[in-house]
Amino acid sequence: MTSHKLNTFLEKNLTELKENGLYNEIDTLEGPNGSEITINGKTLINMSSNNYLGFANDSRLKEKANAATDKFGVGAGAVRTINGTQSIHEELEAKIADFKQTEASVAFQSGFNCNMGAISAVMNKKDAILSDELNHASIIDGCRLSGAKVIRVNHQDMDDLRAKAKEATESGQYEKVMYITDGVFSMDGDVANLPEIVKIAEEFDLITYVDDAHGSGVMGKGAGTVKHFGLQDKIDFQMGTLSKAVGVVGGYVAGTQNLIDWLKVRARPFLFSTSLTPGAAAACIEAIDIMSASTEEHDRLWENGRYLKEGLNKLGFNIGNSETPITPCIIGDEKLTQKFSKRLTEEGVYAKSIVFPTVPRGTGRVRNMPSAAHTKEQLDQVLATYKKVGLELNVI
Ligand code: PMP
Repeated sequence: MTSHKLNTFLEKNLTELKENGLYNEIDTLEGPNGSEITINGKTLINMSSNNYLGFANDSRLKEKANAATDKFGVGAGAVRTINGTQSIHEELEAKIADFKQTEASVAFQSGFNCNMGAISAVMNKKDAILSDELNHASIIDGCRLSGAKVIRVNHQDMDDLRAKAKEATESGQYEKVMYITDGVFSMDGDVANLPEIVKIAEEFDLITYVDDAHGSGVMGKGAGTVKHFGLQDKIDFQMGTLSKAVGVVGGYVAGTQNLIDWLKVRARPFLFSTSLTPGAAAACIEAIDIMSASTEEHDRLWENGRYLKEGLNKLGFNIGNSETPITPCIIGDEKLTQKFSKRLTEEGVYAKSIVFPTVPRGTGRVRNMPSAAHTKEQLDQVLATYKKVGLELNVI
């Protein structure tokens, strides 16, 4: 016997979503998430993963994960503050701090709960958070959870940021004011204007928080967007994920020793959720070691990004103003965008459509995430498929 009210609620809402074409059917991969993927027995060129450097299925990372699993076990067995801190976790945190050139770092089980935990550990209802309107959902949720007053700032609009920073700080209403932004925005591939943000932050004594989920491994020769601008000692929170370029799972904040000490006693996912698996921690360490020793994968990622952009541009597609390898192909109309993506898949290229409400109405796009793992032949095949589908659907 299950709840009648729950069943009515689920039935009604699921039906509504399905009738409006808003129910997201999940594709199941039958193997690794590499430059190719297999779905329903069909192999497709994969243009939709965040596995920027191809590390998700890299044999060097897998070896380290296996060795750490042998040594430490499959699970950490407890939360970090009871006895779930193993030497491999501390090794990872030292590695991240070194890579990010900060005093210390703390690792979380995911980027999402890192944002939830870190923002709410520092900000509270006496504070205000200025937040770029296109920030990731985990930032939005972390801000809400903190109880601070959230003030949306127009996307990458430095005049708006300055005006709102001035108003918030001069009102005397708030104890602390934070500005939080993605380092690289994943829908358009644009990069936060950190030099200007730092200037404004210094003028108004703002706390600065950069979520570099899509910048780590990609910008600053791999070390991220903050490093790209040489602002390591100017940004309070360098947050990042271990799930995208690093190829594994997890999140972190790098910053001063005081900040990290505080997060370790106040960030609730650190206190109340079991630590990263030892295997994941070891694989992350290997990824950072590889990125520190050589920019080979990083360089290949950028080369592939440039190649794809140039090719799509020549074909006559609108690829927006991305400053990173992220390559949106802006189609506009939502239905046409979805049809475009579906036809690409039928022709062997997996590139997801992204439409309202994730992006503004009328700016539907198929988003391409080139990686270091793609070969030129694969990218040529992607371009040929775009040409075929673009002509067929009158997009070019
Ligand atoms: N921040 C941003 C900007 C992201 O794009 C994502 C991932 N979608 C996250 C945080 C969450 O990271 P994770 O997937 O590691 O939980």
